Amino acid sequence: MVYDIAIVGGGPAGLAAAVNARRRNKETLLVSKETMSSKLVQAEQIENYLGIPQISGSELIGRMRNHAEAEGVINLKDEVQNIYQEDRLFSLIGRENAFQAKTVVLAPGISTTAEIVGEADFVGRGVSYCATCDGMFFKGKAVAMIGYIPEAESEAAFLSEICAQVHYFPQYNLATELGPKVNVVHGKPQKILGRDKVERLITSAGEFEVSGIFIERAGRPANELLDGLQIENGFIRVDFAQATNLPGVFAAGDCTGKPWQISRAVGQGQVAALSAAHFLNDNQD
Ligand SMILES: Cc1cc2nc3c(=O)[nH]c(=O)nc-3n(C[C@H](O)[C@H](O)[C@H](O)COP(=O)(O)OP(=O)(O)OC[C@H]3O[C@@H](n4cnc5c(N)ncnc54)[C@H](O)[C@@H]3O)c2cc1C
Repeated sequence: MVYDIAIVGGGPAGLAAAVNARRRNKETLLVSKETMSSKLVQAEQIENYLGIPQISGSELIGRMRNHAEAEGVINLKDEVQNIYQEDRLFSLIGRENAFQAKTVVLAPGISTTAEIVGEADFVGRGVSYCATCDGMFFKGKAVAMIGYIPEAESEAAFLSEICAQVHYFPQYNLATELGPKVNVVHGKPQKILGRDKVERLITSAGEFEVSGIFIERAGRPANELLDGLQIENGFIRVDFAQATNLPGVFAAGDCTGKPWQISRAVGQGQVAALSAAHFLNDNQD
């Protein structure tokens, strides 16, 4: 069978694309290597998704998945390893299956490799990659921000407005002043320690008692999937219609850039699906 729209990735971006593709009556396949986005499953509490003031990540992604299934999306668990185009059709090669589709929406998220000892163990229990999402959980407490890229500086400044103390560990040559409320420490993070939650950060410049550790590093996009796909600053380049440089290929969610947020992923997923539907209608034989 040739699908109208094949979506790679079953996180908020992919599921929003799938629901909206079905609303446009398109035969829709969603392929995801995880049944539930591990990013969302790690999110203990989400407090900034409009209309749902408090919900766990697992519950939210479960609801999104049920919604897509109720719309008639075909859901398959597989990892897409390669996509190529032949005679105006896209072939998606998975580990176990191969599929064909007229258009593709890429929504594979990003992978950030955990590098600090203890980091992976404490994700959602004090380790966070998003100050907007989790900053408020640490109101009035001491936190650390480990910045591998200068973008982390504005996050440290934001945290200093709400936290009692912010220790900033730049892992690059810091060229700017961060203001009196941010304690800049030139040290390499070595280990994260705690019982149930983060309690201490061990660095080459000493030990720091903190309740939260924010980490900001560049993500690695899944750009090996498709030959010729344009990447900009590490992310898939898209226009306002979520179109990539390749006709018939759209992208949405974290893989297209920051902020890495659910609402952005959902909005972009919807736009990508509608753009794919327009593309199909404009390119009918
Ligand atoms: C601990 C934590 C807390 C967070 N809290 C919040 C919050 O409070 N508020 C907020 O807005 N955001 C929060 N986020 C961020 C939010 O989870 C992401 O922005 C969102 O999940 C991005 O959605 P996405 O669909 O782009 O990618 P993802 O959710 O990462 O989904 C991508 C999916 O694609 C799959 N995939 C990848 N490659 C392939 C492939 N080759 N073939 C098939 N499938 C593939 C992946 O397995 C994954 O399931 C949090 C993240 C974390 C880690």
